[in-house]
Amino acid sequence: MSQYDYDLLVIGAGSGGVRASRFAAQFGARVGIIEERYLGGTCVNVGCVPKKLFVFASHYRETFHAAPGYGWHAGAIKFDWQELRANKDREIERLNQVYDKLLNTAGVEIINGTGSLVDGHTVAVGENTYTAERILIAVGGWPWMPEVPGVEHAISSNEAFYLDSLPERIVIVGGGYIAVEFAGIFNGLGVETHLCYRGELFLRGFDEDLRTHLAQELPKKGIHLHFNTDITRIEKNADDVLTVHTDQGNTLSVGQVMYATGRKPKTDGLGLENTAVRLSDAGRIQVNEEFQTDEPSIYALGDVTGPDELTPVALAQGMALARNLFGGMNERVDYRHIPTAVFSQPPMASCGLTEEEARKECVHVDIYRGAFRPMQYTLPDLDERALVKLIVDRDTDRVLGCHMVGPEAGEIMQGLGVAMTAGATKADFDRTIGIHPTLAEEFVTLR
Ligand code: NDP
Repeated sequence: MSQYDYDLLVIGAGSGGVRASRFAAQFGARVGIIEERYLGGTCVNVGCVPKKLFVFASHYRETFHAAPGYGWHAGAIKFDWQELRANKDREIERLNQVYDKLLNTAGVEIINGTGSLVDGHTVAVGENTYTAERILIAVGGWPWMPEVPGVEHAISSNEAFYLDSLPERIVIVGGGYIAVEFAGIFNGLGVETHLCYRGELFLRGFDEDLRTHLAQELPKKGIHLHFNTDITRIEKNADDVLTVHTDQGNTLSVGQVMYATGRKPKTDGLGLENTAVRLSDAGRIQVNEEFQTDEPSIYALGDVTGPDELTPVALAQGMALARNLFGGMNERVDYRHIPTAVFSQPPMASCGLTEEEARKECVHVDIYRGAFRPMQYTLPDLDERALVKLIVDRDTDRVLGCHMVGPEAGEIMQGLGVAMTAGATKADFDRTIGIHPTLAEEFVTLR
């Protein structure tokens, strides 16, 4: 009989924590999972899932606009935010229950409350303490906002999912995934949307061609882009209107200001000081390849460790941890070809190296690119252009990077991610027969 209550005690029932605990339990481990808020974490509750539902919702405006080009004429079009929000909430509740069932079916004990480490084997939750041979920290991250006068009047994406009503106008601050995705959502739902980004060009880290292309496309949809623009002050007026002052000397009067300036690991109050767990300068929990912290019985994974704050990465990590600790395996997560998509409108997706990275790594780099109007926009005569791009190492013929902006970019990039992981060459792409007519076939016809 073990001296501990559990073989594995997980703090945080988000994507990584739930995956690790379910599979550990299926391998026969006695598992408990502590959660203070909601099952499914950021992704299910205030992230990927409701975001994607809102992206679908916001796209209808363009669909209605394009419909006459195909001979369809709808009656009066009306959008009801409350209805969308209520339907979204219902779907999230359903998913919360699915997670509850998955954990229960796997035999994982759910402990409601906030977990705080007492030592390397003990976690306090309120009045109770629980012991475990191993503890997994999977508490994720939380939106972070810079200290700007009046920033307390701003919301983060967390609150954007639950607004009582939509503002007529919004300022979104930031130039990362969340800022760009929400700019598309609010704009599509009929809100006059201003995106303020402090640098020259948003989506730093993505291929520059794509960033430039997207910066040309978003204003066509009606989004106001303000680059090289930082917010210096936000004032709340008597009528609840917010006045946003920029370092360019401009002001914008809006109903909401949303900051999307990154997320920070949620380690406050975790009791890490009672253990040897170490944080990086960015506040991330430091782990080795096996997700083990400097306190040997404590592991961590997902957004709290970074740097790839993506649900599928946390899932892969949770799976590998469970298999290695309780399934007798010795797996490593392969981070080399992580496909990723920004669900902007149009969406953008990438896998592998950017052109800039490839030119640093390889002597001879060949670039293949095509920009065109997707077929579905011809009849409605919509001015949206797609971009596809392949980056190839001329010496080995290996495809180093696949990138695109255009309809279904995420769906297309998932398949290309498999090709990249398998080490596809440009010759492999060339001898692959296309599916005609699709946007995806452009990747196998680039010459
Ligand atoms: P990101 O880290 O992607 O972007 C943060 C943005 O805020 C950057 O443009 C950054 O600018 C800017 N910024 C940072 N500090 C300041 C500041 N003090 N003042 C003004 N601007 C600032 O964070 P997000 O919040 O967009 O998203 C968090 C993470 O969640 C992402 O990194 C991603 O991993 C994940 N995510 C993934 C999604 C997906 O897969 N589709 C969707 C949403 C989120 P700069 O570039 O100049 O530093």
